[in-house]
Amino acid sequence: MECHIGVISGDGIGPEIVAEAKKVLDKAGEKYGHSFTYQDILMGGCSIDATGVPLTDEAIAAAKASDAVLMGSIGGNTQTSPWYKLAPELRPEAGLLKLRKSLNLFANLRPAYLYEELKEACPLRDDIIGDGFDMMIMRELTGGLYFGARKTEMVDGVITATDTLTYNENEIRRIAKRGFDIAMKRRKKVTSVDKANVLDSSRLWRKVVEEVAKDYPEVTYEHMLVDNCAMQLVKDPKQFDVILTENMFGDILSDEASMVTGSIGMLSSASLNDTKFGLYEPSGGSAPDIAGKGIANPIATILSAAMMLRYTFDLDKEADTIEAAVKQVLKDGYRTIDIMPQEDAKKAYVTQVGTSQMGDLICERI
Ligand code: NAD
Repeated sequence: MECHIGVISGDGIGPEIVAEAKKVLDKAGEKYGHSFTYQDILMGGCSIDATGVPLTDEAIAAAKASDAVLMGSIGGNTQTSPWYKLAPELRPEAGLLKLRKSLNLFANLRPAYLYEELKEACPLRDDIIGDGFDMMIMRELTGGLYFGARKTEMVDGVITATDTLTYNENEIRRIAKRGFDIAMKRRKKVTSVDKANVLDSSRLWRKVVEEVAKDYPEVTYEHMLVDNCAMQLVKDPKQFDVILTENMFGDILSDEASMVTGSIGMLSSASLNDTKFGLYEPSGGSAPDIAGKGIANPIATILSAAMMLRYTFDLDKEADTIEAAVKQVLKDGYRTIDIMPQEDAKKAYVTQVGTSQMGDLICERI
């Protein structure tokens, strides 16, 4: 298979971690007979330096012409970087928002997976963790409260602020379908999260999810109120496979779920539209504090590349192979500094490696 991938290396640790993901993709391509071609796309601070804006029209066109985009991270130190003296629409993050909008990326996927070897980074008790958990938070990204009309005004002499939460049935249907499709590639369970005891938008959400579920008889589904879901995530995270939810609930629940897994350097993500296209990126930022030192953890970006193989190219076996190689490297005791055990006694059993060595070790296991 020929795969044309747009690559946004970005700023800070971005170029370092993206280089390792490309290395791993090429290794998987070599093993399974696929060719990956890469086109560099400028976005973020590096684009500001080169062109004066965080994302040019040419960059958007290049992203649209790609089958998928692999991204590192963008932005710099928000206190000291000159990029943050610019108007908000000219800052690095404005490029990412513009790109997401231009590509109509309405579905955000964030896996929360607990590796056996990194269990100690999980703040939950052993009896709650059990054999670990593996869930996928699917968050609607372009509707709801963050995009509704808002205003602040004087009402009877009192300052009053209003935000509007709106969803139409088509917006709900397309994300629900995506959620059930993803569940079909996993353990075939969907937990749809809403606040249907209070909100009209949640009652519509529930109705549409039930309609969509009829087309997926193999998938079991349930509805859960968001306040209960927030509790269940720390009480019994093992029960979840795909959590399907709207924008604001997803924003909060995905951060909660990622915190119970441990390091930011391990967390991948994908944003999808209604074609096979996706933007794949680690959940963390550009980590200016460690940029250029060769110590950043490339695993989140490597796992994002595996998600790209699975969800854009339907190369499930290849994605499984990369994920298995990551697990094996951890099992073999290799760690970047961010996932090193805290206690000296445990450090004796692991070997600390840098960014590119971690990429090499994963390639060897592929
Ligand atoms: P950050 O995620 O960059 O860093 C937070 C902490 O996590 C730092 O100590 C950093 O060293 C560590 N960290 C992050 N990724 C790591 C990795 N792969 N390996 C090891 N350690 C890692 O968050 P921040 O410091 O708040 O933001 C820095 C910049 O990144 C800002 O400009 C912010 O706007 C930007 N940002 C970009 C994205 C994106 O590109 N999608 C996302 C979040 C933040």
